This record gives sequence, structure tokens and C-alpha cells, in this order.
Amino acid sequence: MTPLGEILARRIAAEGPMRLDHYMAACLLDPRHGYYTTRDPFGRGGDFITAPEISQMFGEMLGLCLAQVWLDQGRPAPFTLAEIGPGRGTLMADVLRAIHAVPGMAEAAQVHLVEASHSLREVQRARLAGHDVTWHESVETLPEAPLYLLANEFFDALPIRQFQRAGALWAERQVGLAGEVLTPGLAPPTPYAALAPRLADTRDGDVVEICPAAPAIVTAIATRIARHGGVALVIDYGHWISLGDTFQALKDHAPCDPFAAPGEADLTAHVAFAPLAAAARAAGARTSAMTAQGVLLERLGITARAQGLAQRLSGEALESHIAAHRRLTHPEEMGQLFQTLAIFPPYAPLPPGFDEASD
Ligand code: SAH
Repeated sequence: MTPLGEILARRIAAEGPMRLDHYMAACLLDPRHGYYTTRDPFGRGGDFITAPEISQMFGEMLGLCLAQVWLDQGRPAPFTLAEIGPGRGTLMADVLRAIHAVPGMAEAAQVHLVEASHSLREVQRARLAGHDVTWHESVETLPEAPLYLLANEFFDALPIRQFQRAGALWAERQVGLAGEVLTPGLAPPTPYAALAPRLADTRDGDVVEICPAAPAIVTAIATRIARHGGVALVIDYGHWISLGDTFQALKDHAPCDPFAAPGEADLTAHVAFAPLAAAARAAGARTSAMTAQGVLLERLGITARAQGLAQRLSGEALESHIAAHRRLTHPEEMGQLFQTLAIFPPYAPLPPGFDEASD
């Protein structure tokens, strides 16, 4: 058992089973033992590789998308260029480089990063040296100004609750103890008003997930965008509506038991996009349809960019560049598993590359 596992086992022995979201929050962000607070988990030596770490083309395409929106909305200056959950700062660095192609845009950008992990803030500080960066604990303190925001693999790291349907009731999944070992279990079934709509599209025994923190985060972002203009680009693996158990753990690039090594494995869940879109609309913003990452990147011109970069490469570097392009876009790799959503003001045109929402 890990040090955090021992702490959580003692807490459960004293206080009873823990909610899954509380367990996940402790595992990821415990100040002394949390996964993100104690390490840099990205890249080949870490537990997983994210899109911006695969290729600079990912950030360049999203940067061009932000640039077109900035031009479409009349070049507001100054504006907030923000990222939530910026990891190593690679995506923001690539975006800043890409927007330099647009006269006046980089000069008007004020960079704000929302990052809970203080060790990752140091990695970001080094990566973005030379830029004036403001860090935030939460989106609530982002400036009241036009907001151009990126969220790549952020929402999947937010703690979730899981409920298993039992007739018209729901049994919450929680973390208990079997001897001294952390083990998932079920609370007694009770009614949950918030899950009433799910009685229509689930069957007995089905698991549904909710992400309690997500709507408030989207509300804060969408309110600023509706009021001051801008756009938010959300990219993550997931579906429109949650169905089934998607809670997963990754350690050393391999899946593992999410209860086996608290604090030492990355814990995530698939993102349900419908609740994000609903919160954005309730705050007065418009949303795109959910659009596959591969489709979005193709429409933004990734293949032309890939061909341009390929001309300067040969041998192994060329092979890995071709593999990176495929990995980001191919439907059997990240192209379809990863989905995207744009949040933008009601008066502004649809951001480039996105599908129009059907209603
Ligand atoms: N966007 C990056 C990293 C994704 S990993 C990339 O694509 O490479 C998730 C990031 O979100 C990490 O930087 C993590 O420290 C941060 N994070 C997780 N939970 C958070 C929270 N509640 N508030 C702010 N940042 C959080």
C-alpha cells in the first residue's frame, strides 16, 4: 500500500466508506501525496503522453483556430489567453508561437494559467520563460475581459461520482475496506433528483457518472465569453452522455487497478460533453456540436502543415513525424476517441473547424 493508501484506509476505518469523487480528489491533488502535486507525469518517462506532447502541430492548429476567432470578433486588445490544466506548458508555448503569424495578436494576449499543482507550475514557468504569466487556483479569478481559453485533457482529471441503477433508485459507488485493502462497494440505493432524467435512457444495473465540479467551471468561463467575447476550446476523450463505468487508472503507460496505488497512478474518467454544453448555454453562450478531434484538426489544415514540416525531415525523425500526424488524427488512434467542443458568444460566427450544433 502507498503512503496515501494507508492514510485513506485509516480514514475509512474511522469514518466509513468514501465517495469516489473524494477518493479521486485525494489521489490526484493531495498536497503531500497527490499524483499531480508530486510529479511531472507526462511524456515518455511518465505515465501518459498528451496530444501537445505528441506533436507541435496540435497546438499550432488550435492556435490558428483561436486566431481566426480573434479576427472574426474584431481583434479585441487586450484579451485573456488562458489554459486550464496546462500540464508542461507545451500547448500554450505552441499556441503562442502560432499566433505570432497574426499581426497584433501575440502583443494583445495576456497569458493566464489555471493550475492546481505547484510542481507543474514550475515546469510551466520554465517552458514559458520570456512570457508574462499569471497563475490561478481556479477559473473564478480569471479577468473580466475577452477570454480565449484552452482545456486539453483537463475535464477528465476532475473527480467523478458513480451511481448504479437499482430499479428507480441509485446506489452510489464508494471506496471501502476489505481487511486493510481499499475496495469499491455500493451504498444503499436512494433516489437522486438530479439523476431522474437518466431513468429514461438506462436499465437496471447500468452505471452513470457525474462530474460535480465541471458545471461551475464551465459557467465561469461561459459567462465571461458571453459578456466580453472570446471562445473556449475543450478537447478530451469522452462521449455526449455518460454511460457505463469509465473510471480508469494508468501507471507506467499501462492500465492498473484504480484502488491499488493511490497517489501513484493517474486517475481519469471519460468526459460527458452534454453537461458542459448545457452549463455553457445556461450562462448565455453558444456551443458547437461535439466534433471529433481528427475531423477538427483536418479542417484546420493539419495535413498541409504536416507535409510542410515533413520536407525538412528524413529518416527516423520523418517516420516519427508521420506517426504523430496519424496518432492525432486517425479514427483508430486519438482522432475519434477524443472529441471537442467550442463555447462562443451568441452573436459570433461558429469557430473554424467545428460542426454547427443541431438546435
Ligand atoms: N493540458 C495538458 C495536461 C493535462 S493533465 C496536456 O494536454 O498535456 C491535467 C492537468 O490539469 C494537469 O496540469 C493537472 O495538474 C491539472 N489539474 C488537475 N485538476 C485540476 C484542478 N482541479 N484545478 C486546476 N488544475 C488541475
